[in-house]
Amino acid sequence: MTDLAGRTALVTGGASGIGAECARKLAAQGAYVRVADVDEAGAKSLADEIGGEAWAVDLLNVEDLEHLRFDVDILVNNAGIQTVAPITEFDPIRFREIIMLMVEAPFLLIRAALPAMFEREFGRIINISSVHGLRASEFKVAYVTAKHALEGLSKVTSLEGGPHGVTSNCVNPGYVRTPLVENQIADQARIHNITEDEVLERVLLTESAIKRLVEPAEVASLVGWLSGADAAMVTGASYTMDGGWSAR
Ligand code: NAD
Repeated sequence: MTDLAGRTALVTGGASGIGAECARKLAAQGAYVRVADVDEAGAKSLADEIGGEAWAVDLLNVEDLEHLRFDVDILVNNAGIQTVAPITEFDPIRFREIIMLMVEAPFLLIRAALPAMFEREFGRIINISSVHGLRASEFKVAYVTAKHALEGLSKVTSLEGGPHGVTSNCVNPGYVRTPLVENQIADQARIHNITEDEVLERVLLTESAIKRLVEPAEVASLVGWLSGADAAMVTGASYTMDGGWSAR
């Protein structure tokens, strides 16, 4: 296990799913973790559980992030939302929200965190992207667009951060067992007029090599490793964890 004693971390979307497991993992490795989430009660309960602190914040209020500066060693840009609909029916306001939360907020948080990281000559930026940061799927126009942009943001950060000891990487999960994916399965079932079990079967049996969903703790263990000293030479990379989904 990587030793993160004395390190501080900020995990966005830390009240649920992948973010919650990342917060638990980084805390278990010794870091002091700030759990940022619009779900104030969820962030507080997770922070209490891991001996960290909660930051109740709506990351859609991007103007509030413009003048922010904070001091953390590890920043996990994880908060995300998903809407599944054809382009012709996609709500433009929802499109903009998805880009704000999943591209603009990560940019502003990276911008807020880098000065202290540069000063300390250590930093870990970990961007929770998706297989949809590297490949498209129909009916996910905003999500696929946002995750592709996040890949670019992560790579530019790796180039500017590298000389200062700051790494920046993406983690690209396939389908992970969280509330986000459960809602998505329900949306897909509606669009395709099939049952939720049939959607799951299509995802699991047809497209994945390992016939199950990814567990949030498995994603968190990769985030834990990327956060530590062993990953010092890993930057500008994108780590797929999808049970073989994108090997096809
Ligand atoms: P989740 O819905 O379980 O958790 C998302 C968290 O983000 C929630 O706690 C929510 O309150 C928070 N959040 C939403 N809007 C916010 C806002 N405006 N401000 C602050 N916090 C906000 O989702 P998850 O599945 O754990 O997803 C986490 C990340 O992983 C997302 O970026 C998602 O795109 C990515 N991802 C998920 C999967 C999957 O299959 N679940 C696959 C690949 C990538």
